[in-house]
Amino acid sequence: MKGKKSILLFFVDGLGIGEQKDSNPLAYLNKKACPLAYFRDYITETIENGVMVPTDACLGVEGRPQSASGQTTILTGINAPQKIGYHKNGFPNEALKKIIDENSVFLQIKKANLGKATFANAYTPQFFTTKPRWKSATTLAVEAAGIEFRKLQDLLAGKALYHDFTNQTLRNKGFDIPLFTTSQAAEILARLTRSYDFVLYEHFITDKIGHAQDFALATKHLEKLAELLRELLKKVNLEETTVILTSDHGNIEDLSTRNHTTNKVPTVIWGREKDFAVNMIKSLTDITPTILKILEI
Ligand SMILES: [Zn+2]
Repeated sequence: MKGKKSILLFFVDGLGIGEQKDSNPLAYLNKKACPLAYFRDYITETIENGVMVPTDACLGVEGRPQSASGQTTILTGINAPQKIGYHKNGFPNEALKKIIDENSVFLQIKKANLGKATFANAYTPQFFTTKPRWKSATTLAVEAAGIEFRKLQDLLAGKALYHDFTNQTLRNKGFDIPLFTTSQAAEILARLTRSYDFVLYEHFITDKIGHAQDFALATKHLEKLAELLRELLKKVNLEETTVILTSDHGNIEDLSTRNHTTNKVPTVIWGREKDFAVNMIKSLTDITPTILKILEI
């Protein structure tokens, strides 16, 4: 049996803290009940006693923060854009890959013997056969730490989630996979927090919708994502588990532009080590050290 303490890092791509204006789909959600809706000009209370820490994603480097360098920073605790001198979009280059290979949170947990870590996302069979293929920061981190990739059979067995937790996009691609309700998806993640010390889940449709500037889809999708989080927080034992939601950069909170924003991102913390984590986090470089410290306590 594992110890009585675990962490779930719920990564949402492209979610910033914007203004409450017409171009912000989050302004149209039920703010009191939404674990995603935060605004620069409005202190939002969130559900289940969560605390939101506005988190710097620009990291002292000029320009708009981007996914590859932002995610590398979240997953290693190293200021990746500062290391390479710019915000790198898309997929990690060799320099970022090296940082991930040597410093990922998965590897650090393993080296320091801090428990069992896993990546909750399921990969399709095509992932393993398509060559060459671009690999995201998370995929590189999982691979370099020798952690097993979850597959569609794990998803069918209730042991993995697709990045689109409803499975709709898998079905659109022709996979014979049932749709998940938000409750079923939340149950899978909650179950993983009971078997592992550290669980990462990655959700990036939010960033895609931000680039597409699709307002109707954004509100619909954010509502669904908020529902998943509400279900999740009901099912996770918050006496044992610390849930940390964070993002790599802003995007979907301002659909007046197809670009990322320079807004701070919301890091929202719930559960066991909330007070401790809140005090540690200022920028994306603080996420991995916070996770490691919580596991060390
Ligand atoms: Zn993007």
